Amino acid sequence: MNIPNGVKNILNTLNASGESAYIVGGAVRNSIMGRTVNDYDVTTSALPDKIEDIFSDFSTVNVGKSFGTVVVYVEGTAVEVTTHRKESGYSDGRHPDGVLYTESIHEDLARRDFTMNAIAYSENGGYIDPFGGISDIKKRTVRCVGNAEERFNEDRLRVLRAIRFSSELGFELHEDTAKAVHAYANKLDGLSKERISAELCRLLCGENVKQTLTEYSDVIISAIPALERIYKYDQGNPYHIFDLYEHTVNCVSYIEPALHLRLAALFHDIGKPLCKSVDTEGIFHYKGHPAVSEAISYSVLKGLRLPTKLCQTVCTLIKYHDERISPDSVRIKRLMSKMGADMFFDLLKLQKADILSQNPKFYSRLESLNEVYRQANEIVKTGTALNVKDLKINGNDIVALGVRPGRQVGEILNALLDGVVSNKLYNDKEMLIEKAEEIIRRGVANE
Ligand code: ATP
Ligand code: MG
Repeated sequence: MNIPNGVKNILNTLNASGESAYIVGGAVRNSIMGRTVNDYDVTTSALPDKIEDIFSDFSTVNVGKSFGTVVVYVEGTAVEVTTHRKESGYSDGRHPDGVLYTESIHEDLARRDFTMNAIAYSENGGYIDPFGGISDIKKRTVRCVGNAEERFNEDRLRVLRAIRFSSELGFELHEDTAKAVHAYANKLDGLSKERISAELCRLLCGENVKQTLTEYSDVIISAIPALERIYKYDQGNPYHIFDLYEHTVNCVSYIEPALHLRLAALFHDIGKPLCKSVDTEGIFHYKGHPAVSEAISYSVLKGLRLPTKLCQTVCTLIKYHDERISPDSVRIKRLMSKMGADMFFDLLKLQKADILSQNPKFYSRLESLNEVYRQANEIVKTGTALNVKDLKINGNDIVALGVRPGRQVGEILNALLDGVVSNKLYNDKEMLIEKAEEIIRRGVANE
């Protein structure tokens, strides 16, 4: 295993004090898989006070002395150094009742969640792998250490971790682990929203997201009950060959793994069932569903304790997801100006994923979308003004024409931007001043 010098230094320093020390957890797993290792966790026989003593010349932070964890900073990396521990029973379905330190690396590995996460490594001793973690990694399998039901009963977060790892790493769950996941799917109520949300966000951005959302829909719906109403919901419309949950899952998998895009895909149609109408031919329609989806999504996303800015971005994409954008440069510029160019391109990605998840008979819609994309790129390339800030004049210029600073200045600038976006004006200082004077003369700001 390739170990950075800083981490080697920590292992050697602990060994020199007569303590055992190993790298454990994600670093070992990822390095066996050939994935990049972001952070290193070290486990040692040294007790927390001793760890602090040994590293008194280093910068350390005692993050959770009660759990035996000290963060040591060395050569620019933060390494969590944790005393070997075992746990003494779980009565709340999430936290161990107490932490017992142990001299035994085997006991420490036995309390870990999955075999792939229960491998220790040291330079002198090589791998310690009592539960067959390396073989499971090779088989691309997530398997609980010990009895899966017992492990999930101890800590329900492991249910979500199991499927999150499956989505991120592209692993299948071992049969017993999968069975236990289903058995515990509806027992997530004791978990904090923050922890649920953190796991779901990582799961959503995983490479294997389609399979995970499909096979473990029971866990997903238990974590986000609002999705219940789209599960197995027949869309009753020729545009669709999938039920609403399947369509949603496809849409999530077709869009690139950026959190805001995946969340927008997950919730874009959540309001549909509330907007259903049936025409004389028995075909279902969902007029107004984007606004309803937007409203439901906002409360669900806030409930997941996601940052307000992220909730707003996701909701804006949902609001416009069904907007028919015709390949007309003025209309494109108007929408780009209203949403911002980045958000507009994100909207096109969402619309593309949405079309790809519908009936392939209607894939021809992609042609018009590609043309919109081409024109939007052109608009960005030519540096067309899309924002008042892009105009060749600013508020001071308007004030210099005798307008009192305040709201009216903004209104005049907006009117000028609208003129430029609609191809009625050039973004040329002289022409804009002339138009501003005309607006002031007429006393109407937003004609
Ligand atoms: P990543 O950092 O990519 O999420 P990781 O394996 O490092 O992967 P962490 O959450 O950082 O995951 O945890 C570090 C290690 O601690 C895990 O590899 C596992 O051995 C152990 N661990 C973490 N959470 C639990 C848990 N809920 N139950 C049992 N062991 C756990
Ligand atoms: Mg980690």
